[in-house]
Amino acid sequence: MRIDVVTIFPDYLAPLELSLIGRARRAGLVDVVVHDLRDFTTDRHRTVDDTPYGGGAGMVMKPEPWGRALEHVRTRPEAPGGRPRLLLPSPGGRRFDQAMARELAAEPWLVFGCGRYEGIDERVAEAAAEHFDVTLVSLGDYVLNGGEVAVLAITEAVARLLPGVVGNAESLVEESHEDGLLEYPVYTKPAVWQGREVPAVLLSGDHAAIAAWRHQQRLERTAARRPDLLSPASAARPDELAVVP
Ligand code: SAM
Repeated sequence: MRIDVVTIFPDYLAPLELSLIGRARRAGLVDVVVHDLRDFTTDRHRTVDDTPYGGGAGMVMKPEPWGRALEHVRTRPEAPGGRPRLLLPSPGGRRFDQAMARELAAEPWLVFGCGRYEGIDERVAEAAAEHFDVTLVSLGDYVLNGGEVAVLAITEAVARLLPGVVGNAESLVEESHEDGLLEYPVYTKPAVWQGREVPAVLLSGDHAAIAAWRHQQRLERTAARRPDLLSPASAARPDELAVVP
């Protein structure tokens, strides 16, 4: 997968060189290129913002550097072919979730445009739609200072779904949000810690009993912590939900 990020704070994306994503990059599983929006300005001060038409507080990102930057990203000689998916982080965008992470993991090419200030001039997304599949994407119903944190979160959630990025692919299957349920509680050695014992069934060696216990735990945990996930559309069957206290 190819990922391009356009930002005025390239250093903000440095964590993408660490841990699993860093290793995936070095292994050639994900190619991440960060572009400095200021490289696409033409004035001495490398200006990327201006006052809003109509007045009001704050500044707005100017369209010209964005137009040039996105054209550069799209037409670089080493860019993959096809129509890239342009993701514009925005508190007013589509709420990012695991289903969207799966959707994006199937794309060959993601481009992120990180807004700052009061956001990017509206015409940038309109114009970009000629060459990109544009999606406004939100991390949640709160306001961040810029899109970079959203890019970090989305990239990590997407990249770990790519084949080879997470060593044991089976560990992805039962994770929270994969099938509408939260994950079961997990334990490791020692079997007793500060007087607290690991549930006996996990020490029993009875794989069927362990699987049944874990499934029940997933149901109970989801009902207790995130009952909103237990809609009729969730993976849990109504007869299973009936046993949840
Ligand atoms: N004035 C904008 C509004 O009220 O919708 C908020 C601008 S915010 C201070 C600056 C940038 O941070 C946005 O352009 C967007 O890129 C990013 N941002 C802020 N909150 C976000 C969120 N919840 N999800 C994704 N990106 C967000």
